[in-house]
Amino acid sequence: MRIGIDLGGTKIEGIAIADEGHERLRRRIAAPRGDYASTLAAVAGLVRDIEHAAGATGTIGVGIPGTISPATGFIKNSNSTWLNGRALSEDLSRLLDRPIRFANDANCFALSEATDGAAAGADVVFGVIVGTGTGGGVVVHRRVLVGANAIGGEWGHNPLPAARGVESPGPPCYCGRSGCIETFLSGPALARDYADAGRAQMTAREIADRAAAGDALADAALARYEERMARALASVINLLDPDVIVLGGGLSNIERLYERVPKLWGAHIFSDRVVTRLVRAMHGDSSGVRGAAWLWDDG
Ligand SMILES: [Zn+2]
Repeated sequence: MRIGIDLGGTKIEGIAIADEGHERLRRRIAAPRGDYASTLAAVAGLVRDIEHAAGATGTIGVGIPGTISPATGFIKNSNSTWLNGRALSEDLSRLLDRPIRFANDANCFALSEATDGAAAGADVVFGVIVGTGTGGGVVVHRRVLVGANAIGGEWGHNPLPAARGVESPGPPCYCGRSGCIETFLSGPALARDYADAGRAQMTAREIADRAAAGDALADAALARYEERMARALASVINLLDPDVIVLGGGLSNIERLYERVPKLWGAHIFSDRVVTRLVRAMHGDSSGVRGAAWLWDDG
């Protein structure tokens, strides 16, 4: 049995996946906020609860916001700031008396979709979460490509390729730079682009609905979004040449992206033909917790 834990900022979700791959059970609890010791106890309690209910013990994988620094072994880059600088891996392994694997939540998303989701069977998969932010993860032969700095796939903080006009230097990003891909492809970025075009503030979802209903300004904002996504993903294809790119997060529900973006990215890709597929995530919000469980795919 494989146990996956998705350690979020507001909730902690746990899943047990049987050896044959089907889901045995799932639990969800509120995440203690701002308190490291309570977070540790909550995760350990959730694992014990799952094992008690399943009547079996399992391997444990944990998806975290941020990553574990290869240099220090401590959590870094987490927006659950009370985890940063903590030896979560060591502390949790001691509490639960076994080795535990950790991965960034976007990497878990990519692993879930590459294992038994929308990219199942593909050798090279790039997973992108486009929602409040823009996370990314790379999976090759069903293994997460963590990288030397544990930032593999963090393409959202590259500059938007071939930026022009209002794109350069581009909007400020929380990372300290300007014009990052995230400042164009996140949900708030699409909302800002639409608002700048002279209309009221609206969510990405509302903009997509309006575009579908024939609103010209919304359609134009979405067209700009698609063209920017095409440029940003073309740079990934030139570097990584993935078989499949999987989109997750709120904006992955915009149906027209899957038809339009691949028609636009060819102009920026160094190949006469492009067979890379752009697909929507199959497991939706469950991909994080499922991918965490699959961190122990090799037994
Ligand atoms: Zn940035």
